[in-house]
Amino acid sequence: MTDESAKRIADLIKPLRVRPGSKVDLGKGFDPRYKADFVKKKDGAGLLRTGIALLADYQGRLAAQDTYGVLVCLQALDAGGKDGTIRHVMSGVNPQGVTVSAFKVPSAEELDHDYLWRYACRLPARGQIGIFNRSHYEEVLVVRVHPENLDREKLPKPAKGKGVWERRYREINDWERYLTDNGFKVVKLFLNLSKEEQRTRFLKRIDVPEKNWKFSAADVRERARWKDYQRAFSEMLSATSTRWAPWYVIPADRKWFARVCAAAVIVHALMEIDPQYPTVSADRRQQLLTVKRELEDEAPKGARADPFAAKEAEEVAAARSRAAQDGAAQASSRASRPRAAARPGSGA
Ligand code: AMP
Ligand code: MG
Repeated sequence: MTDESAKRIADLIKPLRVRPGSKVDLGKGFDPRYKADFVKKKDGAGLLRTGIALLADYQGRLAAQDTYGVLVCLQALDAGGKDGTIRHVMSGVNPQGVTVSAFKVPSAEELDHDYLWRYACRLPARGQIGIFNRSHYEEVLVVRVHPENLDREKLPKPAKGKGVWERRYREINDWERYLTDNGFKVVKLFLNLSKEEQRTRFLKRIDVPEKNWKFSAADVRERARWKDYQRAFSEMLSATSTRWAPWYVIPADRKWFARVCAAAVIVHALMEIDPQYPTVSADRRQQLLTVKRELEDEAPKGARADPFAAKEAEEVAAARSRAAQDGAAQASSRASRPRAAARPGSGA
C-alpha cells in the first residue's frame, strides 16, 4: 500500500476513534449523519472496493503468518446495519479465514456459565478474522437496560449487586488486554444510527414484503427505550475505549459511508499488525530448487519445462512491449501536434 493511501485511511478513521479516558455523550459530538468532506458519495463504491481488496490481501498474509488473530466486535441498535456491513465489507475475503458469530438471547447452557464464556468459545484462531455480530458488550447494554436479564444469569448475590456495571467494564477491559497481549487484536465498531433513520428503516422492513421477515415487534418496543440505550452506550464507550482496544463510533445513517469507514478501521488494524508471508531459509530454498529441476525433467515431450515460469515471463514481456508502444505513440503525437501560434506583439 502506498504511504498516501495509508494516510487517507488514518485521516478517515481518526475523528471516529473514542479517545481513551474521554467522556462520551452520544447526543453531543457524534452526528450519525457525519461524513468526511474529502469522501464523496460518487467515490464511495470505488473506495469500498479498494478497502475490500486491501482486506483480502492482508487476510491472506495474516493466515500465512499464523501468529496474530483479529476480533471485530460490531454493536448497533436494531436496523443499525450490522448484517449489511458484514456482507459488504467481508465480501472479498477467503471464507476459510473468517468466522462470523451472532449473539442472541443466551441459551440455558450459556446461562450456566460465567457471562464471558460464550464469547470466549467463539474467539478467532491465530491467522483468522473473527466477527462478532453483537458481542460481549450486550452484557453491559441490553442486560443493563433490561436488568431481568441479569437475574437470569444465575449470579451469586455479590456479583449482581451495587457496582456491577463498573465491575463488568473492568473485567471486559482486562479480558481484551489479555487477548491483545497474546496476539489477538480487538477492533470495536459502534454503528451510530439516528432515531429518525431507524424509523425509516423499520418502515422499509414493513413496506417491502421481502424484508418483512426482518421486522420484529420487539424492536419497536426497544425503540421506546431509546434514551436508556443512548445512556448505556455512552457510559460503555466512556469506560471501555482503551489504548489497546479503542472504540470507533461509525456514523451509520448513510450506509455507503458507514461501510467505507468500517472497512477502513479493519484495514488500519491489519496495517498495524502488518502480517508478512513467511520466508524460507537459504537451505530450504536450495531444496526447493533441487525439486524444481526434478519436476522440470519430468516434462512430457513437447511440454515446457516450467509452464508457470514461462507464462510469467511472457506476461512480463507483453507488459514491457505495451509500455514501449504507448511511449512511442505519445512521443509521435507530441511531435505531430501544431505548435502554439506566436502571441501577437511577442516580436515573432
Ligand atoms: P437480532 O440481533 O435482531 O437477531 O436479536 C438478537 C437479540 O438478542 C437482541 O434483541 C439482543 O438484545 C438479544 N441479546 C443479545 N445478547 C444478549 C444477552 N447477553 N442477554 C440478553 N439478550 C441478548
Ligand atoms: Mg433484531
